[in-house]
Amino acid sequence: MAMTECSLGGLSTLDSSDIDAVTRMTEACMDVLLDPTLWAWVIGLTVVSIAGGALIGWIKGRLMAGILWAAVLGPIGWIVVALGRSNLPLCPECGKGNAAAAKACRHCGVNLLQSAQRSARSRLKGADSDGSW
Ligand SMILES: [Zn+2]
Repeated sequence: MAMTECSLGGLSTLDSSDIDAVTRMTEACMDVLLDPTLWAWVIGLTVVSIAGGALIGWIKGRLMAGILWAAVLGPIGWIVVALGRSNLPLCPECGKGNAAAAKACRHCGVNLLQSAQRSARSRLKGADSDGSW
C-alpha cells in the first residue's frame, strides 16, 4: 500500500468514500501540521520579521508601526514601513530627518536643540518687528 502523503496530489486522489484512506490522510496532515520543526520555523521567522520591522520602525521613528506591520505582513511589512512616512524630527537647517533623540543633525552636524531655540527666537523677533506699534 502506498504511503499516504499530505499533499494537493494526495488530496485530489483521495477517495472520500474510503474511511480508512480519509483517516490516514487526516493523520498524515495532522503530522505535518504538528511538526515541531515547521512550528520552530514559523515562530523563528515571525520573531525575525518582527525584529526587523522593529529596527526599521525605530530608524524611521515609528517603532510600533514597524512591529505591527512586520507582525501582520512579515518582510512585506518592512517595505511598507521603510517606504512610509517618517515621524523623525526634521533638521531646521538642512530639512533632513534625524533620530527622535538626536542632539545634532547627522546630515549637516548642526546642533538641533540650539538650532530649534534659535529658529523659535527668530520667529518671535520677526513677529516683534512686524508689529506696527
Ligand atoms: Zn541638518
